[in-house]
Amino acid sequence: MNLLKQPFGQMPDGQNVELYILSNDQGVKASIMTYGGIVVSIETPDSLGRSADITLGYDNLDGYLKDNSPYLGAIIGRYANRIGRGKFTLNGVAYKLALNNGPHHLHGGRKGFDKVVWQAAPVRSDLAVGVKLSYLSSDGQEGYPGNLHCTITYSLNNDNEFKIEYRAETDKPTPINLTNHAYFNLAGEAAGDILNHELTINAAHYTVVDDTLIPTGQIKPVKGSALDFTQPTAIGARIGRLDNGYDNNYVLNSTDGSLALAAAVYEPTMGRTLEVFTTEPGLQFYTGNFLDGSIKGKSGAAYRKHSGFCLETQHFPDSPNQSAFPSAILHPGRCYSQNTVYKFTPR
Ligand code: BGC
Repeated sequence: MNLLKQPFGQMPDGQNVELYILSNDQGVKASIMTYGGIVVSIETPDSLGRSADITLGYDNLDGYLKDNSPYLGAIIGRYANRIGRGKFTLNGVAYKLALNNGPHHLHGGRKGFDKVVWQAAPVRSDLAVGVKLSYLSSDGQEGYPGNLHCTITYSLNNDNEFKIEYRAETDKPTPINLTNHAYFNLAGEAAGDILNHELTINAAHYTVVDDTLIPTGQIKPVKGSALDFTQPTAIGARIGRLDNGYDNNYVLNSTDGSLALAAAVYEPTMGRTLEVFTTEPGLQFYTGNFLDGSIKGKSGAAYRKHSGFCLETQHFPDSPNQSAFPSAILHPGRCYSQNTVYKFTPR
């Protein structure tokens, strides 16, 4: 296994951004940059041993700095997904967050964890290579209470497991929901749409949302609907029954906080599989519905609607306003912990 660090450009304010490249002995290579903790690329072998980059992204820092970058590969925080009207009340105090998605708060606000430079340190053990990122989100930032100290460790081992360990501590109670927004195309980042990928999601239920994607509080069975991926099904098989594509939070069957299989994806033409394991209770399945061809990706190919899919392990959207959902509040003296593993296997 190998761990390399190289420069990846400069922020407008002069801060240097670095790229950490993790590689294993099976031909898997993952690159992470310190801006936004962004996964810039993941190269994996297919069934014939041919390597391709399977995550959407840009080939340089400038691409990521553009205003309209749709969170490609980024760490999302302090709260991934939406908080309705950017409002919540905690211990009798009403808080008002930055609004950046119509009337709502999305993915941490105007300057979320995807838009800051993280401190980084290499991590090496006998079993894995990695990088540990740290960031202090100060009290009041984007409207959130408490100084929140976060660390995120990305690592890769020889079992082709790419692990993300999220940890945080706070000095005031705060909502927290950290995830990663990687868009995958298992045929290769520029291979076109992901509609032929066969997906299984280990969830019998989903959270119902209104027209603006805010949960109503209702939890419904997926059975009999286009959202049913309890058996392997092509993403495109029933996507036409939805207005725009998939953008849904699944209520995972495993809710005890142990690391459990959340989803599996198989791409039949190249023969790559992705399995997602997580300790989280929810999974946002998003089919890149808002990609509109205006973004030129790494190899110059335009990313269009459904060019990639995201499997974002998370707490449910708008949990701070839904008392029946698993709590997403971190208290002082407690440690926030979420672990997610993406495992790549040629087949
Ligand atoms: C959300 C989408 C949102 C997208 C932005 C996804 O995580 O579920 O609703 O538009 O992020 O890239």
